[in-house]
Amino acid sequence: MQILVTGGLGFIGSHTALLLKEAGHDVVIVDNLSNSKLDVLQRIKKISNVDYKFYKADVTDEAKMKEIFARNKFDGIIHFAGLKAVSESISKPLEYYYNNVVSTLCLIKCALEYNVERFVFSSSATVYGENDSPLKEDMKLGLTTNPYGETKVINEKILRDVSVAYPHMAISLLRYFNPIGAHPSGLLGEAPNGLPNNLMPFITQVASNKIKSLKVFGNDYETVDGTGVRDYIHVMDLAKGHIKALENIKIGVNVYNLGTGKGTSVLELINAFEKINNIKIPYEIVERRKGDVAACFADATKAYKELGWKAELTIEDMVRDAWNFEKDYK
Ligand code: NAD
Ligand code: UDP
Repeated sequence: MQILVTGGLGFIGSHTALLLKEAGHDVVIVDNLSNSKLDVLQRIKKISNVDYKFYKADVTDEAKMKEIFARNKFDGIIHFAGLKAVSESISKPLEYYYNNVVSTLCLIKCALEYNVERFVFSSSATVYGENDSPLKEDMKLGLTTNPYGETKVINEKILRDVSVAYPHMAISLLRYFNPIGAHPSGLLGEAPNGLPNNLMPFITQVASNKIKSLKVFGNDYETVDGTGVRDYIHVMDLAKGHIKALENIKIGVNVYNLGTGKGTSVLELINAFEKINNIKIPYEIVERRKGDVAACFADATKAYKELGWKAELTIEDMVRDAWNFEKDYK
């Protein structure tokens, strides 16, 4: 199949583009480089030894997107492009709503006009709000605590409405848990611009002395050691989940959790990092972060039953590969 990958130079998109090629699909990447560098294109070419068609374009630019659709013959779309920093979304709500919602509207309009029937969307576990874990796809969605999360809820709703009006469309909503890790080559990984938001890039930047110490947000939750519990998933496993989702896509809207089903606390992740990489991570316990839930992990059985996919890599693989990328990253 020829697959349009929006946001394909970002963290998850770049790993998925690589695996799509490996699985024999043709890949066309669209990215506006707002949170990635062109250098990622050279890196994926180097790893796979093949070329990728790339357009530097904004997915919210409908005229430009129509031009791209007219020049290619897509069989499917994986829509990663979006802004994703939770705290930034609180200070810049309009940018987040505009970018994340208009991009999907433009893409779906193009898909309908150019008869592209397969559409895979990057959603997030954040749509479950304060529901108790393990989180299941058929749970009622929770209240979101920030504009970023709300854009995921709105996008899911838009795609459900599209499916009602255009029942020939095959749409998958993939709810990711916490992707970390990196490509085993050390050439691809998570390289956020500015100060990281998420725990894993924070840990690796403390390890490389870019940041002095880690702040652990609260140790008084009702969890194994009082710190927040999340379902960390290796980005390579997550990327594989997209290939399975695309190859097994069904008509209508189908929702899948992409997680491991296993929770890990902040202190457990720090300990695993220290042990595997033999580096001490200085940290201090501070106040809880606003909007955080105590625990968030998936019931990952549906993706296994329906797509034949399950995460295979361990926390040890994740912390090793994350550091392997960060330590040489320039
Ligand atoms: P990322 O920022 O690394 O990648 C997103 C890419 O999209 C970037 O390369 C950026 O330049 C591009 N982009 C953004 N807006 C664009 C636009 N309007 N037009 C063209 N390109 C645009 O993020 P990621 O971690 O790879 O996340 C990919 C998707 O998965 C996002 O939709 C994100 O919300 C979702 N998601 C991520 C996580 C996570 O923790 N990383 C968790 C759940 C869901
Ligand atoms: N966390 C932390 N210090 C940080 C960043 C995150 O203690 O600098 C904690 C956070 O409170 C949560 C876990 O690490 O319990 C994962 O946070 P992250 O932002 O990576 O993911 P999310 O909360 O969005 O699932």
